[in-house]
Amino acid sequence: MPRQTYRGGYIVSTYTYSAGPGMLPKEVMQEIQQHLLTFEYEGVSILETSHRSEAFQHVVDSLEVRLRRLMGIPRHYAVLWLQGGATLQFSMIPMNLSRCNRFAYVDTGVWSKKAMEDARRFGEVEVIQPISDEADGMSFDSRSAQDVDYLHVTLNNTIEGTRFTNIPEMDIPLVADASSNILAEKIDVERFGVIYAGAQKNIGPAGLTVVIIRRDLIQSLSLPSYLSYASHEDKLLNTPATFSMFTAERVLKWIEDRGGVEAMERLNRKKSEVVYSFLDRSNHFSSLVSGNRRSLTNIPFTTGDSEGDAAFQRFALERGLVELGGHRSVGGLRASLYNSMPLAGAVRLVDVMREFEEETYVSHQNI
Ligand SMILES: *Cc1c(COP(=O)(O)O)cnc(C)c1O
Repeated sequence: MPRQTYRGGYIVSTYTYSAGPGMLPKEVMQEIQQHLLTFEYEGVSILETSHRSEAFQHVVDSLEVRLRRLMGIPRHYAVLWLQGGATLQFSMIPMNLSRCNRFAYVDTGVWSKKAMEDARRFGEVEVIQPISDEADGMSFDSRSAQDVDYLHVTLNNTIEGTRFTNIPEMDIPLVADASSNILAEKIDVERFGVIYAGAQKNIGPAGLTVVIIRRDLIQSLSLPSYLSYASHEDKLLNTPATFSMFTAERVLKWIEDRGGVEAMERLNRKKSEVVYSFLDRSNHFSSLVSGNRRSLTNIPFTTGDSEGDAAFQRFALERGLVELGGHRSVGGLRASLYNSMPLAGAVRLVDVMREFEEETYVSHQNI
């Protein structure tokens, strides 16, 4: 269901294509609004409920059960609910998984570079270049990493709009940053030692980070308590992001009610296909990524120059289409189509691009 706003005297449907925090289901936000003042007991809001209360423990339990069911997470993996965003995991991972203090990172862009910069403080980083090919998509050579504690991949590159299509079998633990594609496409959990994600793209509001970790990788090390995975295994060490967890639990229910991750992936393929196929046919807009490595959730595109891009962003905003600017490091335009974005939002974006083409380029030819 789109939201509506007044613009220029008209009521228009609004969609936000923000890369994060991203769109949340309207139904979930309405439900939260209705229950904000009375969560479990009359007069007590979720915002003022103790994280040690029985009522909140039900939220935590249900959140974990739903995530395990949606992603097929087996018992020999722990699910940790942390704060500090995906960014804190950039350092918690090398801190907690270090044995020989050598780590391998596949370099697929801005976020993978940030992850390896933090890892360098804890050991030696071997940088691996991805293998990228129009037809086969994106992968890497599994022989390139040896004698390392783990190999780190960014499954979906939020800024560049690329995704891994093939992860080779390896003996060493694979660590995956799934911040922008968790629950948006199927991830085979047992292929990985650790999967982590900031919640604010596909799970819920900001302030929550999920870490899915194979239990045998949790070592008891002498680390500050919060920074050790062992402190969080099967318990709440300290006050977690209670409101974000409450909302996330409702979002996961919303996903389950709609057919789970498979249904989300089908919808995400359909939505991204609507936008990519327009970009591929357009004479004025073009996609910045080609072939099979195209992301299902983040689509960078351009009119070819920064003035055109800025003009389109203004044109779209007037029509209720919000946050279409590219990341500050790459510029251009970007549409993020996470789970909560309905198909109508992808169709609407294409309609507005078409309208922009007609008004801008056709009218120029007539002058
Ligand atoms: C957004 C994002 C991050 C950063 O997440 P924070 O929660 O803001 O720290 C890291 N990696 C990827 C792939 C992202 O999309």
